[in-house]
Amino acid sequence: MKSVTILGSTGSIGRQTLDIIANHPDLYKVDVLTTNSNITLLEEQCKKFKPNAVIIADNDALIRFKEGKKYKGDILSADALNTINYDANTDIVVSALVGIAGLLPTIQAIKSGKRILLANKEVLVVAGKYIMNLAKENKADIIPIDSEHSAIYQCLIGEKQKNINKIILTASGGPFFNLSSQELEQVRLSDALNHPTWYMGKKVTIDSATMMNKGFEVIEAKWLFDIDTSKIDIVIHPQSIIHSMVEFIDGSVKAQLSNPDMRFPISFALACGERNANNYEKIDFNKLKKLDFYSLPDNKFRCLDLAYNCVNKGGNACAILNAANEIAVKEFIKEKIQFTQIPIYIADALNNIAYIDSPTIDELLETDAKTRQYISNLIS
Ligand code: MG
Repeated sequence: MKSVTILGSTGSIGRQTLDIIANHPDLYKVDVLTTNSNITLLEEQCKKFKPNAVIIADNDALIRFKEGKKYKGDILSADALNTINYDANTDIVVSALVGIAGLLPTIQAIKSGKRILLANKEVLVVAGKYIMNLAKENKADIIPIDSEHSAIYQCLIGEKQKNINKIILTASGGPFFNLSSQELEQVRLSDALNHPTWYMGKKVTIDSATMMNKGFEVIEAKWLFDIDTSKIDIVIHPQSIIHSMVEFIDGSVKAQLSNPDMRFPISFALACGERNANNYEKIDFNKLKKLDFYSLPDNKFRCLDLAYNCVNKGGNACAILNAANEIAVKEFIKEKIQFTQIPIYIADALNNIAYIDSPTIDELLETDAKTRQYISNLIS
């Protein structure tokens, strides 16, 4: 029986993780659940999964939850995310908080040497080098939940690092892969929110449309698999059935396939080393018939180029990239800026926020705050 803490249990990944846990009451139980402010759903989750403690980050929500008096375990405030002691009750920590807020809580979990199921992107995008060193020091396994990295992880089981020729990340291409540069200028918010294969939150959906999401995945893959970005290729695969591939020095390629359903990579990460049966819809090759591939158009997705530049530059560049992107996307969602202005604002931040070669975690967080302020001022 493994005990699971879910940082961000009311978000999409958190809910799907609990779905899987509910299907395997003999294998998993819940230790701690956390939410920002969705106490209605948290209350339902408490009733069903009986966690030992909950953490509620938003103070008003915390007070209302306490007043409700329906949950009998420990009710903790936001500070607990960064100070919680995992040693006693938790085997697995699912890191599914949204945004930079996930960084310090994930560091806390890594320091306790737990198995980390990583869904939060910022952890590796902003602080990849630090995080992977910390995980090594504390013997904490980091198992990715993102479908692409889960695929690569699965392809690399039993393989030697020196035999990897390259990693091939698949990308659905998003809704705009066929548009010309001129057409991209005219893109509206509703077009960008219309992702062809995956259902996701607004921010990630826009990041898929700009391909920044794929850029972040390149950065994450570099750190997770200790591989140079020159050995990470991207191929457009609109059906999102092959989640990524690894080519080895003998020319053999391994791929991992499943229907596009996040419960597959989450199940794999929870079981890690084992495989748990489930009833999620499996691939029917007779219906599927074909898989398509297209090469990535040159110079069309500026956000992707920026991501490659930043990860190769190192230091705090990816922290600037991430923060500037987040604010620019937020402003696009508010319809304050155009789709094609997103990379222009990011490039501006990269030119104007001070570069730090070997930043500490505090310096990365400072870079993050400064960049947000800078872009917000610039846009308003
Ligand atoms: Mg992905």
